[in-house]
Formats: sequence, C-alpha cells, structure tokens
Amino acid sequence: MPEYIEKYYTLKDLWKSVKKLPSDRKYLAGGTDLVISLSCGNDKSSVWLDISDIDRLKEIKEDGKNIFIGAAVKISELESNPLIKKWASALSECVKYYASPSIRNTATLGGNYANASPCADGVLALAALRAKVMLNLYDKRRVVDILSIVKGPKKIDLKKDELIEGFIVSKEERKSIFMKMMHRKRFGIAKAGLCMCYKLEKGKLRDVSISLSSVAPSVVRAKKTEEYLEGKNPSKAQTKACQLIREEISPLTDIRSTSDYRMRIVSVFLSRALCSI
Ligand SMILES: Cc1cc2nc3c(=O)[nH]c(=O)nc-3n(C[C@H](O)[C@H](O)[C@H](O)COP(=O)(O)OP(=O)(O)OC[C@H]3O[C@@H](n4cnc5c(N)ncnc54)[C@H](O)[C@@H]3O)c2cc1C
Repeated sequence: MPEYIEKYYTLKDLWKSVKKLPSDRKYLAGGTDLVISLSCGNDKSSVWLDISDIDRLKEIKEDGKNIFIGAAVKISELESNPLIKKWASALSECVKYYASPSIRNTATLGGNYANASPCADGVLALAALRAKVMLNLYDKRRVVDILSIVKGPKKIDLKKDELIEGFIVSKEERKSIFMKMMHRKRFGIAKAGLCMCYKLEKGKLRDVSISLSSVAPSVVRAKKTEEYLEGKNPSKAQTKACQLIREEISPLTDIRSTSDYRMRIVSVFLSRALCSI
C-alpha cells in the first residue's frame, strides 16, 4: 500500500509540490488498473498523486477546429456528452462494450491510455479518430500522435512525472463503427476489436481510418487496408479489403484466443462494417 495519497484540484498545485514528494510516486486516476496492480504486488510506490479531480483534466470542450477531452474524463461520460457524440462518436460507441457500469463510472480515458493495453477500448477509438495526446511536464506541454508513444502492454514512453493532460480530436464529420469480440456478450476483454472512421461521398469511401485491438502488442492501425479503401465503393471493395487486413496482422495465440481466430474475426468485422455502410 502507498503510505499516503495526495489529492490535487489544479495543475498549478500539482506542479508546485510534485518535486518535493518521494521519488517513487505515481498518478492515481480511477484506480481500476492501479489497485489491481497493487493487489498483485506490482505496485511498490510510496505515494499516489490523485489527479482525478483536477479541473483541467475533467474538461470536454471545443477548441477552434478541435475538441479537447481531459484525461480524467470518466468512460461513462463519453457515452452521452454532446461534443463527443458529434465529433468523436467512436468514443461514445466504445462505451457500450466497456466493462460494467460501475467500472465505467470510475475508470478514466487517460488511465486507459496510460495502461497501454493492446485490448484497450478507449485507445482503439482514439486511434481510429486519429487523435493526438497532450502531455504536460511541469507546465510544459507537448502534443504527439496517439500511438507514437505506446510501445507495448503497460509500456508507454512518458518522462518521469509527465502527465497525460488530455486528447485532441479534430472536428471532422466522419461516421464510425466500433466492434469488439468477447468471450461473452458483455463485461469482457476483447479477443479482437475493430474501429473504423470514414466519410461516404457519392457512394465512395473517403478519409478512412481503421484501428485494431488485441492483434499486436498494442492497438494498431491497418494502414494498407485504409489506403486500399480510399475512393472505393464499400461493397465492391469488400473481398480484397478483407484479404488485405488479414495480411497486415500476425496476432498471438494466448489464453483468450488463437491467432487464426483473431485473424478471422478481424476480417469478418471489416466485412460486416463494409456491408453496413
Ligand atoms: C473488472 C474490470 C473490467 C475492465 N474492463 C475493461 C474493458 O472492457 N475495456 C477496457 O479498455 N479496459 C477495461 N478495464 C481496464 C481499466 O478499466 C481501464 O484501463 C481504465 O480506463 C484505467 O483507468 P483508471 O482511471 O482506472 O486508471 P488508474 O488505475 O488510476 O491508472 C492506471 C495507470 O495509468 C496511470 N495514469 C492514470 N492517469 C494518468 C494520467 N493522466 N497521466 C499519466 N499517467 C496516468 C497511473 O499511474 C497508472 O499507472 C477493466 C478493468 C477492470 C478492473
């Protein structure tokens, strides 16, 4: 157990005091991953910094051509927020597949990203939305592409004390489709997942992005399939696109599924997505 938990309400207070705390400190948001880490004996930090009530991290707001979604926004808020529904509907859609209501009311989008799981539903949606992540270290910000610092399960390229402040999604009129295969219908971890964002202009696909979960060490984009689908009629492109997407991945066999099943699921999901369009 940590010896104590420090609670913050503003970024200013966090940056004022953070360097004076013991060096084995860790951020706490909803705690749904961190508390499990602790109970498995994998967290030895002596102080947790509770960032779940920092005002800036709870914001969802328009910012010129983008929307900003704070890292401490709860998963359940993504479902009904009007800005998210209009400009980042993939995030609203992921909620219905995401754990149970109690977890959704506690877990945050920032924690989902920081945990860097290959099956993270929030990251799957953010990747298809081509979101960027805003990082903050002692009040100095940097903005990077969403998947550029995700290196594998629980491996994310953050500097010491670097905070995920939030996510930036550009305001584009794209539709989205979110699909997740679980062991059961609800409350499960993905065997494989697919999220697709696109526009349809005169029967042709435009501006396609496709992300996949649980088929690689982290969430990935299917870039060759995206390129192929650009400007194509969705039903005519179906056979070739489903073949291409299988060639883009080489998933592992593990306790949740086999490699072959994962490849089939991804291809079936893409086929269903293109049929539905
Ligand atoms: C029963 C159960 C079911 C689940 N089902 C799903 C599911 O269906 N889909 C899914 O995707 N996930 C699922 N999860 C995983 C989990 O809920 C998510 O990963 C969650 O979003 C983590 O967010 P949190 O706020 O609880 O993070 P925390 O546990 O508070 O933190 C997780 C890690 O991120 C770091 N961190 C948190 N916020 C920040 C920040 N702003 N900046 C820097 N570092 C930060 C913490 O230091 C910690 O290392 C499930 C978990 C449980 C326990």
